[in-house]
Amino acid sequence: MKKIKNRAYFALLIALALVAGTIVYIIRLWNDGGDWVMLRANRSVFSNGVLDVGEVTDRNGVILARAGDGVYAYAEDEAVRRACLHAVGDYEGNIGAGALNVYAKRLAGYSFWNGTNSIDGKGKKLALTIDSRAQVMACNSALDRGAIMVMNYETGEVLCMMSAPSFDPAVGYDSETDSADGVYINRCLNTAYVPGSVFKIVTLAAAIENIEDLDERRFPCAGSVIVGGELITCTDSHGEQTIEEAFANSCNCAFSELTQQLGGEILNKYAKDLGLIEPLEVGGVGTAGGRYDLWSEGSGSLSWSGIGQSTDMVTPVAMLRLCAAIAAGGTVTEPRLLMSQAEKKTQLLSEETAAKLREMMNYNVVYAYEGASPLITIDGVTMYAKTGTAEVGDGTSHAWFVGFIDEETQPLAFVVISENAGSGLAFAAPKAHAVLTTLLGG
Ligand SMILES: [Zn+2]
Repeated sequence: MKKIKNRAYFALLIALALVAGTIVYIIRLWNDGGDWVMLRANRSVFSNGVLDVGEVTDRNGVILARAGDGVYAYAEDEAVRRACLHAVGDYEGNIGAGALNVYAKRLAGYSFWNGTNSIDGKGKKLALTIDSRAQVMACNSALDRGAIMVMNYETGEVLCMMSAPSFDPAVGYDSETDSADGVYINRCLNTAYVPGSVFKIVTLAAAIENIEDLDERRFPCAGSVIVGGELITCTDSHGEQTIEEAFANSCNCAFSELTQQLGGEILNKYAKDLGLIEPLEVGGVGTAGGRYDLWSEGSGSLSWSGIGQSTDMVTPVAMLRLCAAIAAGGTVTEPRLLMSQAEKKTQLLSEETAAKLREMMNYNVVYAYEGASPLITIDGVTMYAKTGTAEVGDGTSHAWFVGFIDEETQPLAFVVISENAGSGLAFAAPKAHAVLTTLLGG
């Protein structure tokens, strides 16, 4: 009798262990199933270790990459392949920030209930927010090295994310004909640059909120000023200016004065709060961070830091995000890269500050940029912008042009940086013009 009782307990124990084991397995499957599917040895998803399922398209359904049964294809058109390289990525896995790598799990189409067989075993179709026509226009805009981004600031959809140099992924990187200069890096997200005068947007935001008599003040400029024994040079002798005029003239003397009054702590706080320092997450892709160092009061380095020089660094996407926030009344709809990603909003600025910045960025265009070249403004479109010509220390300058256009036409924010190209107005603004015109259907 005792023996039977012991056996019954033993059987019960085994049964309990089985139930417990099954529960643990189901929990682990629920939590880690997606990762198990993504093991390179899984032949239903990978072929020789390369993702072998799924399709990536642009926002209009143009196929950008497709894999199945060991056959890998990119866009039909070579211009599209080159233009979309960094957004799409490559099957070799060289471009870490590309969709093929970042969204591999989604492309495999794994779900807890159906495994990877949810869509006839061929993975999933993912639509990126980019517009391949705008990408091609950006790629053809004679951008040797740099980044061009455009986003819809109402929806957060990134319509253009072009990084140069690029290469044709169907052929692979060719050291004979392609530039080797960080060719695998998506400069839009993962390169921080000296911002130059586009950083004056940050200094101006801080001045609007911290200097009470800003609108009544007049800022003198005699072409240069000595601060802490250091010569702060300006592009011209601008004379007495209002704050609008000083911003439109991009006057270094005026912004040196503002920076000294605000101090490094306040500027550092604004650079941080406006999203220029910490790395961001854009549609699931991690970005590089920026930099703003604290300099002592009265030093020339502090003056230069408020002018966007010194050791300041920002990424193109962080500048784009700031412009999108100003355009939308202070709250940014976070940039996203997939049509299926949800909208997320973050307040960067108060509505009043955003409105003032907006007004002054439009004054820049009307007062200083319009007429400088026919390739800046677009007929019938109200533009808000800031140029930057950022000295990089080797005698050359990065050309920047950042801003947005009116929501009545299309709510588009943009950023262009052309490395070592020279003046922002001459060499970055026309590239923004070309891409915006394409997106506006011109
Ligand atoms: Zn000046």
